[in-house]
Amino acid sequence: MLSADGHQVEVFERAPTPGPVGAGFLLQPIGLAVLWEMGLLAGVLAHGAPITRLHGQTASGRPVMDMRYHELDARLFGLGLQRGALFELLDAAWSDGRCMHVDCEVVSVDSDAGTLVDASGQRHGPYDLIVVADGAASRLRGQVVPARLDRPYPWGAQWCLVEQGDWPWRDELRQRYVRAHRMVGMLPVGTRPGDATPRLSFFWSVPVTELGSSATDGERWRSDVAGLWPEAAERLDATAVPDGLASARYRDAVHRDWYRGRAVLLGDSAHAMSPQLGQGVNMALLDAQGLRDALRAESTVAAAMARYQKQRQRHVGIYHFWSRWLTPLFQSDRHRLAACRDLVFHPMSRLPGGRGQMLRVLTGTRQGWMGTWQLPSGFLEALNATRQSQQLADAAPCRQDAQISSA
Ligand SMILES: Cc1cc2nc3c(=O)[nH]c(=O)nc-3n(C[C@H](O)[C@H](O)[C@H](O)COP(=O)(O)OP(=O)(O)OC[C@H]3O[C@@H](n4cnc5c(N)ncnc54)[C@H](O)[C@@H]3O)c2cc1C
Repeated sequence: MLSADGHQVEVFERAPTPGPVGAGFLLQPIGLAVLWEMGLLAGVLAHGAPITRLHGQTASGRPVMDMRYHELDARLFGLGLQRGALFELLDAAWSDGRCMHVDCEVVSVDSDAGTLVDASGQRHGPYDLIVVADGAASRLRGQVVPARLDRPYPWGAQWCLVEQGDWPWRDELRQRYVRAHRMVGMLPVGTRPGDATPRLSFFWSVPVTELGSSATDGERWRSDVAGLWPEAAERLDATAVPDGLASARYRDAVHRDWYRGRAVLLGDSAHAMSPQLGQGVNMALLDAQGLRDALRAESTVAAAMARYQKQRQRHVGIYHFWSRWLTPLFQSDRHRLAACRDLVFHPMSRLPGGRGQMLRVLTGTRQGWMGTWQLPSGFLEALNATRQSQQLADAAPCRQDAQISSA
């Protein structure tokens, strides 16, 4: 986005070969709107799997969560996407003025001078602005501004991609829970460039003490998953356990200020949260757009940073709040809390007020406690057109069958 606006941009990435990490994720309408503005909506829709419903139940089949996008707006849906698909599309979109330093870990940032130093000791800059976007476990954010809160969660996840095959819930994120200490999830995430096999993203919640290859006994692990959800365990037959599973750890990080001098925080580095609400990618995309817009609107970097921080904190705060409150309900040893969740969560989500609030948070369009983030009308029309063409495509084989049978 910044390159497209004529800024000279250099990216420093510590990985020798940049690529996706982890399995898949759910992109919400608000994140899709950013990609639409970048001209990438058709690309992600060509690969991702439209998700119309989020459904969670206990092992005994009691519904805990049942949310459908169309109850907020018939045009809306989420998009299950492989990390590799988004990575390829964003990577390909940056062609003009591309300057990427790979295998280059930044170890220090001087916010006043606008310079940085990499792991080999080389100094880079000065730059007008340094965007610190080094993720949830950022080692650099504290050098820019001290955190108000920065702590790891005691629970994380193992996750991987599996073949979709004959999976019956192709447009739903499905989860199953045993109290709060077991959670398994399956999300259809479509295909990625160069690989036409549709896949599912599998998610298994574990305490961080059990993360890591040596701690996982493959046979026991499979039988635990099968005990909770046999159909999900079947999809994992071809997955090596534990070597084929990626581990994920989360943090909760809050900064009162997101910038100092010539350095600014963006994405998880500015506001790491647990993925319980599935908003991190969406928020990072919105941060990028907000930063670009602030630089367009203001004539000095200082004024642009103040505008960016104000606008983004107004939006992100409520997601941070809800993700912190919801995480122990789904990932903890607090059995009583989980029992309350099983009793109360679903009935509450059926109340007219409660349902609207939850759907707004889910779609990323809640602004503060009661405000609404307006999605651009052009974007909603583009989503609606996709939806209609998909409904036609889904209906086509039935019409053909009908013709054949009537013949
Ligand atoms: C299990 C799990 C499920 C999730 N599900 C969802 C979901 O469904 N929907 C959703 O929206 N979000 C989801 N998220 C959150 C989402 O993945 C993150 O919010 C998002 O990746 C943040 O993007 P980022 O660019 O800020 O950081 P990252 O994606 O972490 O990228 C940081 C980059 O900085 C590089 N880097 C780090 N340190 C340095 C350094 N010192 N020098 C140079 N380079 C460095 C890293 O190599 C990396 O490339 C999930 C997260 C997890 C763990």
